Amino acid sequence: MQRLRNTEITYLKGVGPSRAKLLEKELGIRTFADMLMHFPSHYVDRSRFYTISSFSSHEMPMVQVKGRFVNFNVQGEGAKTRLVGLFTDGRNSMEIVWFRRIKFIRESYRTDTEYVVFGKPSLFGSRWSMVHPEIDRAADAETNRGLRGVYPLTEALRSRNVTSRTLFGYIRTLLDGKAASISDPLPDDLRRRLGLMSRAEAFRAVHLPQDNNQLQRARFRLKFDELLYLQLNILQYSRRRNTAAGGIRMPLVGDAFRKFYDQCLPFPLTGAQKRVIKEIRADLNSGRQMNRLLQGDVGSGKTLVALMTMLIAIGNGAQACLMAPTEILATQHAETLRELVAPIGINVKLLTGSTPTAERRTIHQQLLNGTLHMLVGTHAVIEDAVQFKNLGYVVIDEQHRFGVAQRARLWMKNTIPPHILVMTATPIPRTLAMTVYGDLDVSIIDELPPGRKPITTVLRTDTHRLDVYRAITRELRQGRQAYIVYPLIKENEKVNLRSLEEGYEHICDTFRGFKVAFVHGQMKPAEKDAQMELFASHKADILVATTVIEVGVNVPNASVMLIENAERFGLSQLHQLRGRVGRGADQSYCILMTKHNIAADTRKRLEIMTSTTDGFIVAEADLKMRGPGDIEGTLQSGMALDLHIASLATDGEIITLARREAEALLDKDPQLASPSLTPLRIEMSQQFNRTVDWSRIS
Ligand code: ADP
Ligand code: MG
Repeated sequence: MQRLRNTEITYLKGVGPSRAKLLEKELGIRTFADMLMHFPSHYVDRSRFYTISSFSSHEMPMVQVKGRFVNFNVQGEGAKTRLVGLFTDGRNSMEIVWFRRIKFIRESYRTDTEYVVFGKPSLFGSRWSMVHPEIDRAADAETNRGLRGVYPLTEALRSRNVTSRTLFGYIRTLLDGKAASISDPLPDDLRRRLGLMSRAEAFRAVHLPQDNNQLQRARFRLKFDELLYLQLNILQYSRRRNTAAGGIRMPLVGDAFRKFYDQCLPFPLTGAQKRVIKEIRADLNSGRQMNRLLQGDVGSGKTLVALMTMLIAIGNGAQACLMAPTEILATQHAETLRELVAPIGINVKLLTGSTPTAERRTIHQQLLNGTLHMLVGTHAVIEDAVQFKNLGYVVIDEQHRFGVAQRARLWMKNTIPPHILVMTATPIPRTLAMTVYGDLDVSIIDELPPGRKPITTVLRTDTHRLDVYRAITRELRQGRQAYIVYPLIKENEKVNLRSLEEGYEHICDTFRGFKVAFVHGQMKPAEKDAQMELFASHKADILVATTVIEVGVNVPNASVMLIENAERFGLSQLHQLRGRVGRGADQSYCILMTKHNIAADTRKRLEIMTSTTDGFIVAEADLKMRGPGDIEGTLQSGMALDLHIASLATDGEIITLARREAEALLDKDPQLASPSLTPLRIEMSQQFNRTVDWSRIS
């Protein structure tokens, strides 16, 4: 494998310098190994022949048809010139269409020869056609029987005549040559125990499967490898970090915590809050640097846990910092915390992009001389100008908005890295907890404060609009408040704002006699804050908003969340929005509005919301439905895992297996130092060295 990794594809038969450049640019394929790891995205059954009469008007898969060309015609002119071959299977006919390389193609095919054409049929009017299909002489086509991989391509490649078959040709050359003898990095006993195919065999079978059973075994083997290397990397990194004596030791519970507990605690802690505070306290006292992920559904009371553990740090003479993803949220946190700790003389300050210069200067000064105990802010707190005397503890709220690089900058703010608590209200599915967050310890708040009524969620369409408004009016009359949320249309900020403004006017018209506040992402922070403040202080009854309110905003008196065009939101996002209500003791409602006609799968997706309030179930479903492609984007974690074949969405069982085996391997041999594990160690260091720098992930 090492040799395949070091050999550039220009050395492959048929790949010249310009094609090599193209492949690298379009598919990231630079070496033999990259080529071999360009796996088919799906497979088609080439053992089955179709007749044209059996084509159906539903979306057709790739199919093959045996027959002859009747004639060829050049049609259209200029850029629209195309070659059309009339192709018959003996009973019916279809058109085969080419837009490129017309002259060459016209000379390649004859009317007296039987061919097999392979492509995706589409219907124009009453006529079936195929554009640029693969074509073999029927006499040669026998070799194509069985499953055939279809390789991911790009438009640029297609237009330069690089097809799935071209790629398969290159890979085939490798499989028959250098790749036939690649060695297996897995120890024999492990391979035998798990009944795994050899790696050389797996590479061959994944590109050239004899049957489905063999294909599945090959895919299992390759996925297992990939996930095993991932787990070895994660576990080795976190074990190493845990044994290095790198953490600030905080042995005391401390006065700040005690005083707060005795004098200021606004309500008894829930059992889950107590448990998590104990877990964190143990970490702070361990002498190791804490890297902990705190998961708790919206409204579960994470802020109080953050506060009380920050007080422990402060009681040990350290400074604490809480970082939030938006200005609104940071401001709200600062106010909440300041109010809670005011009686015990803790100095809390807010630092955001809009903090005035004079105040900023005071903050910088107080941070340096140690008189500022607790800094709350947006990413403004990680600017270089912000220097602490002794930063010991950092809480990051709603972490998925923060990139790894940003977190790493926090690390550098102290000679000994501060303890880090990452809080998220987006429940993290098990597979992600084991991979993307696999190096963090996890605490879970799985209990809501007492007295909450579960939120009632309903799905409504435009035809119910009047009823919905009537119900909202009823709530408002009882002194409750309502959120009305519009989706953001990213591609077009102007249209977006207009539709939002229209929505706002419509709501003002509909709910006369009630006061309506209005926030969106393009407002100046001061204006935004003023509007939020109107709603928070109940000077406004309704808040019309975009998703800026998604995270964290806390108005317990609000009992209605109306979400317009709910189908445009992801499930996790809907769950976040829903979590803005149900924070008080009253029954709350979440109304998902859609247009009248929505696709069946959209409806199914939204019905997950109406059927459960459990964030974990929502998150698992979201992950499954959106598939792996979206995950990394959503997490914005800065960690491109770059998995070639395994999927974080669907390979939960293999991930679990890989983690278990990785743990066993490291238990026996923490450095993987024994000679029998050398190939494994090399593979594992190769797999991710281009993408993930684990040493920088907090
Ligand atoms: P989240 O986990 O979403 O950040 P918050 O920390 O904002 O949740 O808490 C949600 C609400 O619950 C707040 O109004 C908070 O004051 C309240 N709360 C937190 N802990 C308790 C508790 N133990 N008992 C009663 N209410 C609580
Ligand atoms: Mg919160």
